[in-house]
Amino acid sequence: CGIVGYIGKRDVAPLLLEGLQRLEYRGYDSAGIALHAKASGKAAGGLKTAKAKGRVRELESRLPKRFQGTVGIAHTRWATHGAPTDENAHPHLDTTGDVAVVHNGIIDNASELRAKLTADGVDFASETDTEVLAHLVGRSTADTLEEKVREALRHIEGTYGIAVLHAAFPDRIVVARNGSPVVLGIGEHEMFVSSDVAALVSHTRQIVTLDDGEMATLKADDYRTYTTEGSRTTATPETVEYAA
Ligand code: GLU
Repeated sequence: CGIVGYIGKRDVAPLLLEGLQRLEYRGYDSAGIALHAKASGKAAGGLKTAKAKGRVRELESRLPKRFQGTVGIAHTRWATHGAPTDENAHPHLDTTGDVAVVHNGIIDNASELRAKLTADGVDFASETDTEVLAHLVGRSTADTLEEKVREALRHIEGTYGIAVLHAAFPDRIVVARNGSPVVLGIGEHEMFVSSDVAALVSHTRQIVTLDDGEMATLKADDYRTYTTEGSRTTATPETVEYAA
């Protein structure tokens, strides 16, 4: 149903919760967050997630201690595949826990992909169509996150707006759109993404709207857009006027 994401310098969990609240008017049955945890000492942070059936307030009350970082993605779900439960709430992870995906839309060939992955020994943690995407990204042997996501999307039939985090690539969020809206919010040393401009306008009025078949990489200080085949596209931000 709804997506928000942030990469920058600020504490990400409160920003994402605020973004989710701005999406509440659309309706949803569950919500969740994944972030790159702040490294402690020499240990890399890795991904941390929190999710809950019910309201954003319920999710907020369940955030683990030290749920801190400056890069994260979040989701409000309107279930299409699998009941509204904690397990089926997004983000969905691959089996290593290094990949987190939030998704709006419907993957039409999910049951076929799930059967193939299961035959390959993959254990599924949810009943959603979305989870196949997390496993496909996680199993890709491509070098870059952009390539991994691109490879995964080649298997997908259906609609998606997605945002992806990978523990090995803490400096970026990769997003893609096909039939479900994705907008980028361009800030100063920080970038936002959402499925709905309403979640962004309290932070920036500089908006890039992705087209179907387009992907983007967001880093704190820059962004680039390209097609799912990998050729660069131009994306000049538009200034949106919005009466909040
Ligand atoms: N099809 C996905 C699910 O059921 C995403 C639904 C949505 O857009 O919220 O989990």
